[in-house]
Amino acid sequence: MATPSEDGSGRAGAGPAADHAADHAADRTGVTSRLIHDPVTMRGVVTAARAAGRRVGFVPTMGALHRGHVSLVAAALEDCDDVAVSIFVNPTQFGPAEDFARYPRPLAADIAILEAAGARWTFVPEVAAIYPAGCATRVVVDGPARGFEGDLRPGHFVGVATVVCRLLHAVPADVAYFGAKDWQQTRVIDRMVRDLGLPVELRICPTVREPDGLALSSRNTYLSSDERGRATALVESLRVATTMWEAGAACPVIEAAMRKLLEHRGVVIDYAAVVDAESLEPPIDARPAVALVAGRVGVTRLIDTMPLRPRSGAG
Ligand code: AMP
Repeated sequence: MATPSEDGSGRAGAGPAADHAADHAADRTGVTSRLIHDPVTMRGVVTAARAAGRRVGFVPTMGALHRGHVSLVAAALEDCDDVAVSIFVNPTQFGPAEDFARYPRPLAADIAILEAAGARWTFVPEVAAIYPAGCATRVVVDGPARGFEGDLRPGHFVGVATVVCRLLHAVPADVAYFGAKDWQQTRVIDRMVRDLGLPVELRICPTVREPDGLALSSRNTYLSSDERGRATALVESLRVATTMWEAGAACPVIEAAMRKLLEHRGVVIDYAAVVDAESLEPPIDARPAVALVAGRVGVTRLIDTMPLRPRSGAG
């Protein structure tokens, strides 16, 4: 692996602070991303870059990177000088019966992807560095963490909020980038950032999909070919929801149609719903809404979402 670790020589020169914004993506493509394990080192390099006038973007991930993750790095490179990407499979956001142990961890391939994408720093902390011995602090978000994933995965959002808070401390970036695919997660993080006054802007980026519409996910690799065929039912149910929402259908009618399609395709449904995009409460016609779906295809749990424009008329 050509990537120098934090103990090695590192990247030679950060480039002049006066780099022109339009050149950033091109400048970064193919640069050697510095691999950092230690949160204190990570914080130091980001703090130094910002002190030198550079705008820093941060993309937190659990690795097993795909084009969805790369799109977040690309978005960050559009409006930042330097981009840090973390790879951390966070144990506290997995339930005891979930796939923490078998979650894919192709670190060498991930580092190569990030180099090609133009990330300046790849942050790969040890579990003990994120959760030190005796660690007794958790971040508990209420409000948007209620319902849906919050109900089905007890403790999940406590794990998510805690790790994102911890990662934002290690990577004190100007802007952090998240995917709309995990819509409820974006609302929980947004709530936490506002409630704790964390000094970071959030950007939510659109879901990247396969040509047939399936949302890219690290968990798609678990699917057999039969399951892969049935997995498109999730996005199809969201398209049905979009059409019906725009036609003015009532939510119970939309949700029944989503369920019918999913059941017909053999998806074991966790939820299929249309809710207000901000509060995740029942939607209001004049406000943005979102269609949410989660279910199991075989033993693999998949989720997907689709934004819905405000509408007028009956709902
Ligand atoms: P993960 O590695 O699954 O924790 O995801 C890291 C980030 O990538 C999260 O903000 C996700 O919402 C985002 N993400 C995951 N899948 C996609 C996708 N298909 N398109 C865009 N962003 C995604």
